Amino acid sequence: MNAIINNLEIIRTKSSKIKDVDFDNLKFGQIFSDHMLLCHYKDGQWDAPKVVPYQSINLDPSAKIFHYGQAVFEGMKAYKDANEDVWLFRPMDNYKRLNISANRLAMPELPEDYFMEGLKALLKVDNEWIPKQDGSSLYIRPFIFASGGGFHASPADEYTFIIATAPSGAYFSGKVKVLIEEKYSRSANGGVGYAKAGGNYAGQFYPTQLAVEKGYQQVIWTDDNTHEYIEEAGAMNIFVRIKDTLITGPTSDRILDGITRKSIIELAESEGIAVEVRKLSVHEVVEAAQNGDLKEMFGAGTAAVISPIAGFGYKGTDYDLPELENSYASSLKQRITDIQTNKAEDPFGWRFKVE
Ligand SMILES: *Cc1c(COP(=O)(O)O)cnc(C)c1O
Repeated sequence: MNAIINNLEIIRTKSSKIKDVDFDNLKFGQIFSDHMLLCHYKDGQWDAPKVVPYQSINLDPSAKIFHYGQAVFEGMKAYKDANEDVWLFRPMDNYKRLNISANRLAMPELPEDYFMEGLKALLKVDNEWIPKQDGSSLYIRPFIFASGGGFHASPADEYTFIIATAPSGAYFSGKVKVLIEEKYSRSANGGVGYAKAGGNYAGQFYPTQLAVEKGYQQVIWTDDNTHEYIEEAGAMNIFVRIKDTLITGPTSDRILDGITRKSIIELAESEGIAVEVRKLSVHEVVEAAQNGDLKEMFGAGTAAVISPIAGFGYKGTDYDLPELENSYASSLKQRITDIQTNKAEDPFGWRFKVE
């Protein structure tokens, strides 16, 4: 830990908003905690991060975030257990991935202690904002964007790093019907699909709107080249259970290396579930649906942890998935949230205590 972090400056809000918050009826990511972590990059280096009151930011209209979309983010959660201890889940993986994303967008990397010590300081200041209610958590959004300006299409020379947090209730998506995409792509070889770059999501909104108009809630992305292989479910990784085998695609330029995804793979394997990480064709899924071998499909990501899929549409036909008594989705979700919230042993060493 370096000197900058030992002296991390904290400017507290004069008017906390916490008394207005109904912690028993939290939505997802709608209200924001009293403080945020703020840090600027200028003249080739990051300034010391500060904890400051949650506030608007002033940007020049020429800031490159607006024109060239240099912006990357992360999504994490903090949990409070029955003893009021605070836990994160594999936070170093988020830190590393933030820098992987930043690299791809020609943005400066963030030093590890700025992220980890900055986050810990923020969580201490806003400890009261971390919900204790079952199923609730503090959603954490670290992000870096180009705050430096100029209309020249080149990387900015100034950046801003912020961590903002939002106390959030369980993320209920309900029964999700998905449409397997045949035209649009989320990502391509050599592209930025593996990065959590803001523009990736902007590009998903329109095809998702079209799917919603057709009566689906989400898009299943297929490979950009042939649209024959299943890649992701909206902004989540996807798992498909055929008979008793759980299948997910290998990470690549196009598929984001999700922390939930890799945790599910390890957890399922440790429980004796057969897991295959391999290309999975739409044809194989449709065939399995037709002959009754398709048991489950679900999305995996930090926000929902696991989001079950009730059915999918493909080339004008809808396929329903069966209601299962012993679904992998519900047992794995239970196992992973028990580990995250310190209700179960953590043989993997994933849990990280904030102190
Ligand atoms: C964030 C994200 C995921 C899930 O990653 P986690 O680390 O599990 O939250 C999957 N796919 C995409 C496209 C994402 O942006």
